[in-house]
Amino acid sequence: MKGFSRLFKYIRPYWPYLVGFTFLTLLGTLFSVLSLTMVIPFLQILFDQVSPPQTQPEFAWEMNTLLDILYFKLGTSLGTVTKTGLLATICVGLVGMFLLKNLCNYFALHLIAPLRSGAIHDLRKQAFHHLMDLPLSYFGRQKKGDIMTRVSGDVLEVEWSIMNSVVSLLKDPITVLAFLIAMLVMNYQLTLFTLAMLPVSALIIGKVAKTLKKASFHGQSILSDLNVLTEESLGGIRIIKAFRAETHQKNKFDALNAQSLTLGNKIFRRRSLSSPLSEFIGSIVIAVVMWFGGNIVLDGALDPKAFITYIAMFSQVISPAKAVATTYYNMQKGVASLNRIEGVLDEPNPIQNPINPAPFQGFKKSIEFKDVSFAYGKQNVLNHINLSIEKGKTIALVGPSGGGKSTLADLIPRFYDPQNGLVLMDGVDIKTLALEDLRKCIGMVPQQPVLFHDSVAHNIAYADPNPDIGRVIQCAKMAHAHDFISGLEQGYETSIGDLGNRLSGGQKQRLAIARALYKDPPLLILDEATSALDSESEQLVQQALDKLMENRTSLVIAHRLSTILHADEIVYLENGIIHEQGNHQSLLNMGGKYRQLFDVQFKAGNYTNHG
Ligand code: ADP
Repeated sequence: MKGFSRLFKYIRPYWPYLVGFTFLTLLGTLFSVLSLTMVIPFLQILFDQVSPPQTQPEFAWEMNTLLDILYFKLGTSLGTVTKTGLLATICVGLVGMFLLKNLCNYFALHLIAPLRSGAIHDLRKQAFHHLMDLPLSYFGRQKKGDIMTRVSGDVLEVEWSIMNSVVSLLKDPITVLAFLIAMLVMNYQLTLFTLAMLPVSALIIGKVAKTLKKASFHGQSILSDLNVLTEESLGGIRIIKAFRAETHQKNKFDALNAQSLTLGNKIFRRRSLSSPLSEFIGSIVIAVVMWFGGNIVLDGALDPKAFITYIAMFSQVISPAKAVATTYYNMQKGVASLNRIEGVLDEPNPIQNPINPAPFQGFKKSIEFKDVSFAYGKQNVLNHINLSIEKGKTIALVGPSGGGKSTLADLIPRFYDPQNGLVLMDGVDIKTLALEDLRKCIGMVPQQPVLFHDSVAHNIAYADPNPDIGRVIQCAKMAHAHDFISGLEQGYETSIGDLGNRLSGGQKQRLAIARALYKDPPLLILDEATSALDSESEQLVQQALDKLMENRTSLVIAHRLSTILHADEIVYLENGIIHEQGNHQSLLNMGGKYRQLFDVQFKAGNYTNHG
């Protein structure tokens, strides 16, 4: 039910459309009911003599009186009433009623269009926006393929299952209600009897719908596993081929796909049950009504013509009532998807922007870690870190992998908040600064450069609504990227997507550096990635990095010591603890862990300069 209440939240902004729709639907139903009541005079004309009353009958909510009033009106307006005249009037009236009914229905559907598409548009937007705002920790926990399924596949499922049912969900109950009221007027005992059978039918239908919802939820999660596997396989296609693991991946895929097949059959069969089941239940209800109503007629307590009209009306209830049941089935599938989308929407965001942020005049003096401890879940990663990064200095983080270097760097832009201690910028707790202010002054060059499906120029001037092409070229030149960009088919306008995998690691890295230069932040976080490059690329990238670091404060996560020998301060981090701290020479003289690391790398011949 929670899914439904969430759905109403999306429908609520469109309430004026809903009011218009309901009004027109009511009107349409009224015409529909009226067109059916014409069956009685039709039968009377065929079977009886019709003689319009001479005086206007007293008004009463009673079928025969209402008909007498109609005949009286017709008699006075047409002069004399002949049987063929009445028949013609009824036929023309019928066409008129159906025309009005269908006009109402058409305009009702016309009105509801913005609600149907709008609610889905809003849901999709909210899911994506929320996703963009969620902290990195969420993406560490969740599989990308699963998130993708939720914001695309599940939204599509909601669109199909729920929004396509919305019209029927709103319209059919109105139709059922209107006909039931008309039936109550005609014969309330029989109608009350019919109504008494409804809960039993609803119970049977509800039971099957529940199992359908469960199966659908399971079905969507298998679909998401399939997406995760596909995404993983595409990302790791090189490794898969290198290990000749195609069959291994195919087997994994086939197992999941087979599960999806079995479940798909189950869902389809359950869903197919809805129509025959509700039709069969409907036929039982009709048979019972025919039996009891027929008996009342045989007893002479009900006019046979009225009973025939009654049955005709009842037949009109069956179809929308069946549609309500089918809609309910369909919606269960959509609600299962809606619940999965809610899983994303309800995800809390622990990284909150302060409501009243502290004033910020730019990074002036230092970044300080004060007794900072951090854990991913239960795993302690940083323990009581105290560190100061003075403006203009280059600080290098070294140590074995898994020691907590990247985590320490991630605390500065508040990708994570520490569980203990404070991170201060110019003496102010960064949690009290507006996230925009804080992140504006930080530039990041990750180990794996990230490029977006856009032109080279837009990738450099990333997120700038008005890119300055002059500056883009200037930054590309500083990052030693201008030459290779100029060689591309369309230069700076070349789409990264069109290039596919044609850019080398070093070229991508230089684009990422040009992007950081364009942003021109006072504080840089570099995850050094020169080790994977060939020596020529490495040299170019290193030169670009040196240019980038000029006159800036930098925190460098170093994988190879050769690049950070001149850092103002080197911090040796292992198991989340700072073991040694100082410049290259002093750490070397200390003869501790840094010295060991240096010797290992020196012996391996991995460094080129020991200053
Ligand atoms: P380094 O950069 O020194 O290699 P990291 O900061 O990347 O170290 O990782 C420190 C520890 O935290 C490692 O044991 C790693 O497995 C763990 N870790 C890193 N990122 C996450 C994450 N998103 N969720 C859970 N554990 C993580």
